[in-house]
Amino acid sequence: MEKDKKVVTLAYGCQMSERDAETLTQITRQEGYTSSDDLQNADLVIINTCCVRESAENKILGKIGELKKLKEKNPNLKIAISGCMVQQPGALDRLKKRAPHIDIWAGTHNLHDFSTLLHQAQQGEKVAEVWEEPKTTLESTPLAEKGKLQANVNIMYGCNNFCSYCIVPHVRGRERSRKPEEIIQEIKELVASGCREVTLLGQNVNSYGKEFSPSYDFADLLHDVDQIPDLLRIRFITSHPKDLSDKLIETVAQGKNLCEHFHLPIQSGSNFILQRMNRKYTREYYLSRVQKIHELLPLASLTTDIIVGFPGETETYFEETLEIMTLIQYSQAFTFMYSKRSGTQAAEMEDQIPLDVKKRRLQRLMSVQNKQSLEWRQKMIGKIYEILVEGPSRTNPERLVGRTRGNELVVYDGHPDQIGSLVNIRITEAGTWTLVGDLET
Ligand code: SAH
Ligand code: SF4
Repeated sequence: MEKDKKVVTLAYGCQMSERDAETLTQITRQEGYTSSDDLQNADLVIINTCCVRESAENKILGKIGELKKLKEKNPNLKIAISGCMVQQPGALDRLKKRAPHIDIWAGTHNLHDFSTLLHQAQQGEKVAEVWEEPKTTLESTPLAEKGKLQANVNIMYGCNNFCSYCIVPHVRGRERSRKPEEIIQEIKELVASGCREVTLLGQNVNSYGKEFSPSYDFADLLHDVDQIPDLLRIRFITSHPKDLSDKLIETVAQGKNLCEHFHLPIQSGSNFILQRMNRKYTREYYLSRVQKIHELLPLASLTTDIIVGFPGETETYFEETLEIMTLIQYSQAFTFMYSKRSGTQAAEMEDQIPLDVKKRRLQRLMSVQNKQSLEWRQKMIGKIYEILVEGPSRTNPERLVGRTRGNELVVYDGHPDQIGSLVNIRITEAGTWTLVGDLET
């Protein structure tokens, strides 16, 4: 009997990349592979790549280099590189030259056909398939892994916003929404297999359904997903502030299982920088959206993404970012140094910021945010929060871990029977990232 073939899948970058990696793993499963994390004994390694910042690319190039040695030891090993890095205009030739040991190259629009590429590679061919445009019908049948407590569900693909720093629209194509009935069907199947929490994914979920007639928008979708029996929680990312409607905030406020958490990337607190970033909102507009959220959902958690060192960012503009953060009080912020991405508008801007200045600003931003995250959590002490229990804590396996509706991590002493269910926890201690609490009986 043929020995059980092992696949190791590594995903870099955002949830979409992780979701794509899951689809690829599922395809290999249909081809007789089982998942593993043991690179030394792998028959197939898949790296689903990210190119949003240079640091991600460098990490991935390092990994691809390491795999060369593995292939020398095990010549039967097949290696596949897929996703955003491969999709960048002009990247494939450069990558192929740099890494001739790779068997399969696949762009973001070529995942559905991975089994064909795999068969060719198994015959000893080196294959590359990078379509410039997606074929929507092929995307509509994603293969989610069944039987997990939490699942990510694509509701749309691509992005039309062209923020001036961002490579995503260049490698993911234009916005296209999946049909509501397909999304709901997929979620029902996930729930039947044991899933209790879904995160609806899109680069800008607030523009979901713009192309639909009769009209059906993201708030309508959330409302309908909220009716699915036995689904305990619904999350969504990412909300572009310019498209965050009152209707959506009201829908979350009136929903049953719609989590009161908004990931609302601000990117900068300076109107000058926001305009150069092509974000299409001002700091005043952003603050008005936050105010609306607080009005209807006083307990909502807000998280954000911030870029420091965007071309033209003076010390004063940077201070405006620190100031707005302090005003808003985020539960968490993902902070990045601006990274020049060739092919984007900002890469051509003249007043690029030196690395040492970017590093210093990032440090300051992070220390302000860490203080805020801690303060945010300290305010939770003494109150009771509902958490969905996910499993044993990674750092303290005798304890259980779960998340609040606001997406804050909570550790407590509980019974394994509680995994997968909702429990009430009174918060007793707060750290920057984690809360500790006691089960309320
Ligand atoms: N569609 C989402 C997220 C896209 S990428 C959104 O609009 O929020 C995730 C985050 O990476 C962005 O929010 C941004 O903060 C950061 N990012 C994107 N391009 C970047 C670049 N060139 N340099 C640094 N950070 C970047
Ligand atoms: Fe990139 Fe802007 Fe689109 Fe987000 S909305 S993916 S930051 S272009």
